[in-house]
Amino acid sequence: MDYSNIVRKNIQKLAPYSTARDEAQSGLSVYLDANESPYENGVNRYPDPKQRELKETISKIKCVPSENIFIGNGSDEAIDLLFRVFCEPGKDNVVAISPTYGMYKVAAQINDVEYREVLLEEDFSLNAGKILAATDSCSKLIFLCSPNNPTGNMLDSAEIERIASEFKGIVVVDEAYIDFSSEEGFLRRLNEFPNMVVLQTLSKAWAMAGLRIGFAFADAAIISLLSNVKYPYNIGSDTQERAQKLLGSLPYEKIKTIKNERGRLSEVLKTIPGVEGIYESDANFLLVKFKNPREVYDKLVNAGIVVRDRSSQPLCGGCLRISIGLARENDKVLKVLKGESYTNSRFVSLTRVTKETNISLDVDIDGSFESKNDTGIPFFDHMLDQLAFHSGVSIRLNVIGDLEVDEHHTVEDVAIILGDAVNKALGSKEGIGRYGFVLPMDDSLAEVAIDMGGRAWLNWNVSFDNNQIGTFPTEMFRHFFYSLAIAMKSTIYISATGQNDHHKAECIFKAFARSLKMAVKKEQFNYKLPTTKGIL
Ligand SMILES: *Cc1c(COP(=O)(O)O)cnc(C)c1O
Repeated sequence: MDYSNIVRKNIQKLAPYSTARDEAQSGLSVYLDANESPYENGVNRYPDPKQRELKETISKIKCVPSENIFIGNGSDEAIDLLFRVFCEPGKDNVVAISPTYGMYKVAAQINDVEYREVLLEEDFSLNAGKILAATDSCSKLIFLCSPNNPTGNMLDSAEIERIASEFKGIVVVDEAYIDFSSEEGFLRRLNEFPNMVVLQTLSKAWAMAGLRIGFAFADAAIISLLSNVKYPYNIGSDTQERAQKLLGSLPYEKIKTIKNERGRLSEVLKTIPGVEGIYESDANFLLVKFKNPREVYDKLVNAGIVVRDRSSQPLCGGCLRISIGLARENDKVLKVLKGESYTNSRFVSLTRVTKETNISLDVDIDGSFESKNDTGIPFFDHMLDQLAFHSGVSIRLNVIGDLEVDEHHTVEDVAIILGDAVNKALGSKEGIGRYGFVLPMDDSLAEVAIDMGGRAWLNWNVSFDNNQIGTFPTEMFRHFFYSLAIAMKSTIYISATGQNDHHKAECIFKAFARSLKMAVKKEQFNYKLPTTKGIL
């Protein structure tokens, strides 16, 4: 297809910025061409402006050749670039369905391009005839979003096909939510439609909204136009690397869970008074029509839940858009809507990645799941199992640590993330016992006292007879509780005596667990954190 009729004249003539690394040939090892710092720190060099490796990975996952892939700083970059490549400001126009994603209109306004909206049918379906009727000789882009945001439905593919065949400009099909749909979408059919651009993103199903990576898939000539206009280094090197790494595990299980939750939420919502309708969704959200949307919105906010109020959008009167969360988050929504009481959960999920360790940790102070500790150090796992069991706190811990060096980093980093997690899970600490103390007996005696009042301190009065228990260095115990005290912002006193180091260590962990259980327990009577100095 010849695009010269629809591409802006200045862009056709553009000599794009040629980056240093574009011209670099292989086999070079001394880079004195780009005025970079020669001191290596991981990011002192400019990133690959063509994102070759990342494109190869995407190419394999999506089964689309690299030359048909554009990678942007979110799909939002691709949307903006489409305007800049195809639309003459102050002269051209674009046509879009309504209601739909808000960025098309914003990008149109920024680029001074007329934005024509064509209402979907009452049931949110697409009418190709109406869209085509809204175009004229200055129409350059048509925006279709499928599954559509905020309505959640797939647009009829026969209607899209008709628009693509009859329209002389570019048809943009935004498939940000396609992973949640049971239908295929248009990615595999780009060969049939040389004037079609399919947008997808890593922000939704792929769980990387924070990275800002979106894709445009299209004919190689369109991709090269977008690439000429983009900032040369639009995707940072850390971002490219991180995406590459995260794409190593595919999200299909999570997508399945979200789709199941979508079904469950939808079924229960039907039974709740005040709910007037739930629209079929092929996305990871539900559009729900309420009798009193504003009231419901405020009720949810008061419970700490924020959803999107879409009631002012065309055809969406009374509607809130609710993203599908974790099962317990969805449960909370349902409880609030039903007017049932709910407890604010004391659960957190954290990850911590450093050069030495890669840790993921779930903690529920109120013990909602089975604990499982995998640090790679069996004895340490055994101690943490005791901690979880005797405190009633659920701990799910997974560590990949540099054990080939020694246990130090793993033990220290586990203490840091665990303390941080307990602290975060406790939130405002309102209503907790704050103090814990215990003196259990085996052949060992451990005395542990905890104050969760906010000051970090460890008093350690324990000595071990041997330097190691098995292969585990006994000096690491002090270090563990010290790091924990700091991260948990708690004062911890520990003293212990006993005949056998293994028993002594186990006794300390049990006693600590029992003390923690007391300190984090919600008191029956209603008072705030017992302190005269306010909550730290
Ligand atoms: C969320 C969303 C996007 C994603 O935009 P990014 O910039 O890639 O995060 C694109 N289109 C639609 C319709 C969306 O809802």
